[in-house]
Amino acid sequence: MAVPQQSGDTADLAVSGGEEPLYAPHKKIYPKAVSGRYRTIKSALLIVTLGIYYLLPFVRWNRGINAPDQAVLIDFPSRRFYFFFIEIWPQEVYYITGLLIIASVMLFLMNAVAGRVWCGYLCPQTVWTDLFLYVERKIEGDRVQRIVLDQGPWTVSKVLKKVAKHFIWIVIAWWTGGVWVLYFADAPTLVKELATFQAPAIAWIAIGTLTFTTYSLAGLMREQVCTYMCPWPRIQAALTDEHALNVTYRYDRGEPRYSLKKAEQQRSVGLPAGDCIDCNQCVWVCPTGVDIRKGNQLDCIQCGLCIDACNDVMKKVGRPQQLIAYDNDTNIRRRSEGLPNVFRVLRVRTVLYAVIIALVSAIMVFTLTTRSEVGISLIHDRNPMFVRLKDGAVRNAYTIRVANKQLEKRTFRISIEGFARGNYEIVGVHTNSIGEMIIEVGPDQTQEFRLLITSYAELPPDASIAIGARITDVKSGQTALASGHFVAP
Ligand code: SF4
Ligand code: SF4
Repeated sequence: MAVPQQSGDTADLAVSGGEEPLYAPHKKIYPKAVSGRYRTIKSALLIVTLGIYYLLPFVRWNRGINAPDQAVLIDFPSRRFYFFFIEIWPQEVYYITGLLIIASVMLFLMNAVAGRVWCGYLCPQTVWTDLFLYVERKIEGDRVQRIVLDQGPWTVSKVLKKVAKHFIWIVIAWWTGGVWVLYFADAPTLVKELATFQAPAIAWIAIGTLTFTTYSLAGLMREQVCTYMCPWPRIQAALTDEHALNVTYRYDRGEPRYSLKKAEQQRSVGLPAGDCIDCNQCVWVCPTGVDIRKGNQLDCIQCGLCIDACNDVMKKVGRPQQLIAYDNDTNIRRRSEGLPNVFRVLRVRTVLYAVIIALVSAIMVFTLTTRSEVGISLIHDRNPMFVRLKDGAVRNAYTIRVANKQLEKRTFRISIEGFARGNYEIVGVHTNSIGEMIIEVGPDQTQEFRLLITSYAELPPDASIAIGARITDVKSGQTALASGHFVAP
């Protein structure tokens, strides 16, 4: 049985030669409310994800007196990212790379197991669109009432409903933008500053921008973002395989479709009749306006709401449920050959994705738990690389950068290794009575020092001598070494 691969619902432009048009005018979609297992899962995830987003900036995490107590904070002025007990410094940005790798492979894994479940249940575009649709339904009614309202004349009641809907949408969008900026500053302080109009201009600009994008993407553009703007459906289509479960119309069971009455007549005389009664409920509940009976389509976000709608219909007409279900064409083919369904979650690609996720996670956990709380880098002056002094000695200059990742002030002994004939000094740091150079670095800070190394030795031309700068915590003995070179003319 041939199943078309693309929706042709909007194909009403005049075309020559009977081909599908490249462009079609946008048709407003009025998704109908539905209840069932997938709707419940979607609602639960909506509450959980939005709850996390809106409340997380207010969660406190005690890190001691010298650090912010916000559990999740992107602190640009101090160049830190705080995530509960984890503190990421700028030079540790590779952790973010690790997180991005885990996130993308997780997306691949979800896709290999159950198609676009990310799109259908967790993508911010889906979640906020769902929330905006909920508001729309509460104010304007379900599908039929909204269609009637839109097609009817502009009455006072219609104007009030439209104004109320857009007002609530803008309030939600404003809250969404408002909460976003709370991840970049101490949330309670910024809330007070916003309430008293003392917040910095950048906060207002960010809130304004996010209010606009949330309102237009989730309120006005909705499914068009998924259909036309998002690259993931195209990438996803290239990553899937014949065993991935997708929301599938089981046309082997549904066709030939007739009205309920006609189907009964067909069956009564021994003629074939599928279970689909052509009621269109699956199309009407679809948030992207897809008719899943036309086969898998890029517009389908795999939300499963058509499964709920059809299960409801099947229950009412006394036919088995799951006419639309998470399934795949392999099973349809197998059933047509009289073979049982196979659901292969464990496949080479799913195992490979899981292994990559486990491996990257393990590396990140290991490096996070074993990372040093002190760091040193030695940066050689580039221009000039050396200077010759009046007495014939050669001098190289460096910047030493010491990072103290603890939340208390620390004292370090600093020494230069690998350089025998010459002397060195750290500008502004004096040696103590036993000839040690001692430096202090404040809590959770990086401090820079100027190091000058002078050689009185006869060095071969273009010599490059390996040296090291070592710091040692005088209290704990924790040490760190940075290597560099002393260069001669
Ligand atoms: S809801 Fe089920 S029965 Fe109704 S049109 Fe869709 S597939 Fe057919
Ligand atoms: S066709 Fe079904 S699964 Fe796909 S977007 Fe529409 S309702 Fe969701």
